[in-house]
Formats: sequence, C-alpha cells, structure tokens
Amino acid sequence: MPDATLAGHASKATSDSTARQVDVVVVGAGFAGLYLLHRLRKAGFATMVLDEAEDIGGTWYWNRYPGARCDIQTIDYSYTFDPELETAWKWSEKYATQPEILRYLGFIAERYDLRSDIRFRTRITTATWDDAEERWLLTTDDGGTISCRYYIMATGCLSTPKPPEIAGIGDFKGEVYFTGRWPHKDVKLAGKRVAVVGTGSSGIQAIPVIAEQAAHLTVFQRTPSFALPAHNGPVLADRLALLERDRASYREQARWSLAGVPWPQQTLVSWQLSDTERRERFEKAWAMGDLIYFVSQLWADQGSDLDGSALVAELVREKIRAIVNDPKTAAILSPHDHPFGAKRPCLDTNYYATYNRANVTLVNLREEPIAAMIATGITTSQRRFDLDIIVFATGFDAMTGAIMAVHPISGRGGKSLSAVWADGPQTYLGLTVAGFPNLFMITGPGSPSVLSNMIVSIEQHVDWVVDRLTAMREAGFTTIEATETAQAGWARHLADCSTLTLHRLANTWYTGANVPGKALGVMPYTGGVGLYRSICNDVVSRGLLGFRLTGPDHSEQCNDGEIVRLQPDVRILLTMMADMKLPAIESLGVAGARAFTAMLNARRPAGRPVGEIVDGTLPGSDGPLPYRLYRPVTPGPHPIVVYFHGGGWVLGDEKSDDPFCRDMCRRSEMIFVSVGYRRAPEHRFPTAVEDGYAATRWIAEHATELGGRGGPILVAGWSAGGNIAAVTCQLARDRGGPEIAGQLLICPVTDPSFDRPSYTENATGYFLTRSLMCWFWDTYCSPADRTDPRASPLRGKLAGLPRAFVTTAEFDPLRDEGIAYAKALGAAGVPVEQLKACGHFHASFAMVDVVISAASERAKMADALRRFAAQPQYMERPDVHLSARPGTSARAVEQVAQGESASQ
Ligand code: NAP
Repeated sequence: MPDATLAGHASKATSDSTARQVDVVVVGAGFAGLYLLHRLRKAGFATMVLDEAEDIGGTWYWNRYPGARCDIQTIDYSYTFDPELETAWKWSEKYATQPEILRYLGFIAERYDLRSDIRFRTRITTATWDDAEERWLLTTDDGGTISCRYYIMATGCLSTPKPPEIAGIGDFKGEVYFTGRWPHKDVKLAGKRVAVVGTGSSGIQAIPVIAEQAAHLTVFQRTPSFALPAHNGPVLADRLALLERDRASYREQARWSLAGVPWPQQTLVSWQLSDTERRERFEKAWAMGDLIYFVSQLWADQGSDLDGSALVAELVREKIRAIVNDPKTAAILSPHDHPFGAKRPCLDTNYYATYNRANVTLVNLREEPIAAMIATGITTSQRRFDLDIIVFATGFDAMTGAIMAVHPISGRGGKSLSAVWADGPQTYLGLTVAGFPNLFMITGPGSPSVLSNMIVSIEQHVDWVVDRLTAMREAGFTTIEATETAQAGWARHLADCSTLTLHRLANTWYTGANVPGKALGVMPYTGGVGLYRSICNDVVSRGLLGFRLTGPDHSEQCNDGEIVRLQPDVRILLTMMADMKLPAIESLGVAGARAFTAMLNARRPAGRPVGEIVDGTLPGSDGPLPYRLYRPVTPGPHPIVVYFHGGGWVLGDEKSDDPFCRDMCRRSEMIFVSVGYRRAPEHRFPTAVEDGYAATRWIAEHATELGGRGGPILVAGWSAGGNIAAVTCQLARDRGGPEIAGQLLICPVTDPSFDRPSYTENATGYFLTRSLMCWFWDTYCSPADRTDPRASPLRGKLAGLPRAFVTTAEFDPLRDEGIAYAKALGAAGVPVEQLKACGHFHASFAMVDVVISAASERAKMADALRRFAAQPQYMERPDVHLSARPGTSARAVEQVAQGESASQ
C-alpha cells in the first residue's frame, strides 16, 4: 500500500468517551471522506473520520432502493488520483448499480487501509470553535468529545431526506420506505399494492423495477421530470478506448471541462442548425444515453437560452408521446413548467414504457392533490387508494441540509452557522465560511458539486484543502478563515454565473424551492468545473486571496479582496484572448487592423434571424453611404433606430455589428438602420459625424418609405458610434432637426482626456487598451480639433438634448467619460438613465451569444428604446410558464436617473 508507512502518524480511532486530540476530523465516509482520509494521512495529519452509518459508502450506503445506479458513466464516475488504482478496477456496466459502487468503495477502503481511522455509528451532536485553543471541539452521540484543529464536512449534497409534508403520515398501517433511507433488509414487493410518491431521479429509477415486482403500482406525480434513456449495458467500447488511449489526458480534460466529463464545448447555436440537423443531433444523443452529453452537446444555447432549451424540451415530449400508449398519460408525463435542463434531467431504464403496463396507475397530483395518508393508504381530493407499501422518493434538503440541519455548528464568537445561513448559504468558493475558521466543506454550496461529475469535483476540493493545510503547516500557520469581502465577492460571482444558465428558472432542490420555507437561490456554482478550478488556482497563486491566516509565530496575514470581479464569461473570453497572444491591433496598420477585425468578426456566432435584412445606400454629406436595415418579424410600421457601429472611427462598417443589430432589432421590435459612415484616416474628423448627422436626417425624412413609423426617430451607437450618436443629437438640436426621441449611448467616446481613472485602471488587458484608443484618436482627429464638441460631445452644450440612456462597462478605459457624459446630461436637465454594467468590458454588449451575461443589459437597453418611443415594454416568451421565483438575483447593475451617479 502506498501510504501504509504513514499510517503510524494517524491516531487510531476508538469509541471511548474521553476527549481525543487529532489534527483533522472528517464527517462522512463516502467518496469525499475516503479520499480525504487517504490524502490527509499521506500528508501526515492525524485524522479521524466519523459517520452515522454502519459502513462506508455515504450516499451509496443509504440509497439502496430498487434500481439505484449512478447517472454518470462509471468510467467517469471513478477516482482518478492513482493511475494504478485506475487499472486495478474494472466496472461491469456503463452505469454501475448501487451494490457495485459500494463494492468499489470497499475495494478502495481495503487498498488504502482506511477503515482503521473511521468510526462508524457515530453522530456529531455539536461542533464549537474554541477561539483560545484555536481548535474545534466536537461532541458525539455516544457522549465522547473530540478536539481537532481542522473540521471538514464531507457530508455530501444529497444526504438529508426531506420530509414529504403529507398529513397523517403516521396513520398508515402498512410499510413506509424512503428511497434515501432504504432498509438493508430485503423489502418484499411481490404481490403487494405499492405506491411511489415523487418522480425525480430516485423515483424514476425505482418505478420500473418496482412495477415488475409489485401486484400493482400507483405513481403519485406532482411535477413531471424530463427522463432520458440510459441504454445501460457493458461499458461503452468507444469511451473506454478513448480513456485507455491516453488516460492522463482524458482525466485532465475532464478536470477542465464544463461538467467534469470530457465533452467539447459546443459552438453552434440552435438557430444555426436546420430542423433536420437538430433532429439528427437529438436522435444521436437519445441513442447514446449519456446525461452530460445530452445536456451539453446538442447546441451551444441549449442550457443558456429559453429558445434553445425549448427546442430540446419539445423533442423529448415528442418521444414521450411516441412511447406512452395512452395520450392522456403521455400528456401528464410531459413537463411544461420548467426549461429543459433547469431541473436535473433523469436517466431511466424503461421509465415511460412502464406506464403501458396494466399494473401501473399514474395519479396527477396537479389535478387531484393528496389529501392525507390514512390507515389503509392515500386519499386524494378525488379518490382513495388502498395500499400495502408507500415509497417516498420525495428528495432531499439538498446542499445545506447535511451541513446545517444535522448539528449546531458554532464559529468564532459563538456565531451559529444556521443563523449565518438563514437567508441562504454564504461561502467563499463553496469551501469555507467567514467566521468559521478551519472549517471546510467538500463540494459545499457555491461550488460546482451537483452540477458536475461529483468525483472530479471531490478530488479537486480534497486536493485543494489538503495542499493548503500542508502549506500552512510548513509556514507555521494554524488558522485559516475566509474574509467577509471575499465571501461577498463570491456571492456576487455566483449570482453572475447563475445568469449564464437556466437553473434559476425552476422550482428545484438546486434553488432550495423543494423545501418549504428554505431560502431561495441557486446554490451550486453554475460556471463549470474548469472555470471554478482556475479560480481556486488563482486564489493560491495570488497569495491566498480572500483568506486570513494566523499562527503562534506569526502576526496575522490577511490578503483581503475579491477573486473574481469580471463576469464569468468575460473572464473566460479574456483568458482565451490572452492565451492566443493576439497582436496589438494598432501595431497592424490601418489595412492590417481592418483585416484582423474582419477575421475576428467572421468567427463569431452569426446572430439570430430577424424579419428582413435590406442593404442599401443613402445620401451622405458628400456622396452615397451604405446602410443595412434590420426589420423585425412583427408587423409594422415600427419606430426606427439609426445605429452607428463601433471601431474607433477607423474600423468596422455598417455590417460589422451585425449580431448586435439583429439582437436589438428583435428585443426592441424596432427597425435598426446601421449606417456605413466614412472612416479615418481616409476621411478624418469631422467626416464621420457629418455623415452620421446627414444619414439621420435622410432616414427621418424617409422613415415611412423604409417601412418605419413617421415622427421622431431614435439614435444609438457603440463606442465611437456612441460618439457619433451623441454628436448627431447635438447637431440635430442646433441645425433644426430631425426630431430625435431618445439616444442610446453604449460605452461612448465623449472626451479626449486620458486622465480619468478608468484609463489607468483598465489600460491593458481588457481588449480596448489605452494605446489602441490613442491610435484611434490620432488616426481620426488632430489634437487641435479634439476640443470641438463634434469630436468631444462632453465639451458641447448639453441642454435641450433628447432623453438618454448611457451604458458603461466597469472594465473599460471609456467608463469614466461615459459616466461623466451621463452626469453632465443630467446636470443640464436632460432626462438620463445610466446603466453601469459590473464585470463587463468594452465589447461585452456587442458580443452577442459569446458574452451571454450581457443579454440582460441588452434587454434593458431595448426597454429604454421602447420607452423613448412610447412602446409597451417587451414581453418575454408567452409560451413558457415559469413557475419559479428567480434564484439569486443577477448582479446588480445600477440604473441611475437624472445623471445621479453611483460608484462601480
Ligand atoms: P427530487 O429530484 O427532489 O425529486 C423529488 C420528487 O418528489 C419530485 O418529483 C417532487 O415533486 C416530489 N415530491 C416532493 N415532495 C412531495 C410531496 N409532498 N408530494 C408529492 N410529491 C412530492 O429527489 P430525488 O429524486 O431523490 O433526486 C434528487 C437528486 O439526487 C437528483 O436530482 C440527482 O442529482 C440525485 N440522484 C441521482 C441518482 C443517480 O442516478 N445517480 C439517483 C437518484 C438521485 P416536485 O418536483 O413537484 O417538488
């Protein structure tokens, strides 16, 4: 055994009641606890593992209901820390049964000699931090006390069954079982009238197996789930071959993937695929029977966009209709209340076909709710069901239940964890909690955990924790504690991440909505295991950012701060761009820079369809200018928005912001006319703004010919285009029209000063650099001309301008001049709203379907346009009936009226 020689370092656990002194206590002897014990012992920490159960296994010890299996392919659902272990164990099936998984864990325990340090049948009754001793004091239900330096919860995310909240539960005279606490004796189902309450993953696995044994099975369904066929059988030859070809690289890819299984990131979004292509992809996934493949490999927007998700949902419903003979039963089994993937889809074997059996009845609790349990069975509002056995597959008090509800945990100053978490779990990295020194959670709330292959996440957490404890010991530190700042920053990051997926839109255990009275909010980390891993690594490489360390020989070391301030997808994008080592655009010369940006644009998602796109020309200030018109799909006439593209007056054209114009046309239901104004250096200042003004005038005069609504028009622009839009409004005021109802300025250039803090803070690293902006200004406008309000609208007269909506991005050199313009407009009496987009960079809003987190900002901008044009606010899809309260709200962006400013 590799660590046998180190076993002597560990205290031998006994069941005596005297206080024990150990370095680390771990709660839970499942996948996480076993690996922790192995690593901690190897690192020389005296460790004791405690578990209420009689044996190892954790969730796999308790969940031994008929049909229980894992839903991640077993070759992926395996430890990877020891290459020799990997070849020493062979799984017999693609999805192993609960007994086989338990055998695997037994094999691990033997191989690494773990049982000697595990105390079974032991429940911790209190855990109290002793500030003076800097240790945790634990009491156990056998009257013992244990003192430990570090206390680690390896309690799992789905360990505390949730009560079924049904009246009269004690009145039933038959047998009652919970899937999450299935007895270890043989449960005789043959010849019995059995009920299953609950149709989540546990119910869906158990129902077909119970139906085969019971005389009659009645399924009580409140909410249908999406279930996908597992197609269980031998381990898939192609996946196994892929793994065996290069184990190390397969495992490494899994560690950096989205969900802990090495499938690639899809790039094509749903509307880029034809119906036939989508169906082909769907059928392939249906035939494959892999949950992670199904939720990630159909199209790129299936998990992030309601439209992309709705396409999957309908295809699954089609399958349900095809499998289930009775159309009414098929309809009851078909989910409509949540987007596909927002709840965990289930993996089944013959689930839907089970409802074709003569001995199975489905009861729709939405039509006839359960009234009570009675001595002989269950009554609903309409019927009575006589039963011998009732099986509750009603789920868990997930993520927090096992940590919070099991025993009182008191941290620094007697602070109770239950009180701290009363409004939802607060953590740093899902690993630690401010005010609770030396307490760690493995796969705690705020980490990818249940949204990933748990084994990959467990190994990452265990390695991170043990490496920190080892490093602290070497450095002479004895306590580690998250700071409040770091924890608050993590909560914001979690909220940002939650906008990237649809999980917030379902009543589920992910959000706590399954437990009455539980605080709501998306609990797992939705940014993916790769991003999460990179952040944990960053915390270390940045000197344990967000942690306070103390030790007897050291004064306190506190590296306070937030680890992620960028939006998650912005962070990924900027990291990718940095890794690509792209040349500085200004170093390429004008022709090179234009070719380079055209090449980048050609690689981005194409943008969604609109009603019509028309290319044309209009008369500019000195000859024809090209334009591209985007018409909504809805019947007109629509208000018109004259749009000016970005590109520093040098790059881009009327087509270069195509995805943005399409998106805004769809959201605002307005015609967007993108103008191809002339660019520098061929045409320097003031050509671009004079073209902009002339184009606006012509479009206003020809609004009805363009299919638009007559009357005032709107202007909008991004970056240098925002500059042109702002100047156009000033020129229209001063030159007798046209009448403009509102201006939308997105990260506008308003002033040539490079002195504002945002130019220093964001000088490099955020795509638009200070040096690129210098080059743009130099190419466009001589220093002498830059004080002209047509170059620098901030220097112009601002009274009497149209209503404005100004969007700025936190990580943008232009941020402060945008804020200054909004302030100045407000001071001049112009009604102005300001959207300060936190965590975004200059290009966030234009990168449609790349920076998904900016979608809500574009929605706000579209709403502003609709307000300017006195249109009703945009309605979300009417065909999705979302029953959920949103989880953690999206990171606040401030909307400030009348130029009032707020800090970013
Ligand atoms: P679950 O997904 O929370 O499902 C619980 C079911 O019980 C839901 O259908 C729920 O309906 C219903 N329910 C709850 N209270 C009820 C009540 N008072 N009356 C009627 N119905 C009630 O729980 P689960 O099935 O145990 O699964 C939890 C998670 O465990 C899964 O999502 C998965 O991550 C994991 N799991 C994995 C596997 C595997 O394959 N490896 C197997 C089992 C579980 P509502 O939706 O209306 O609340």
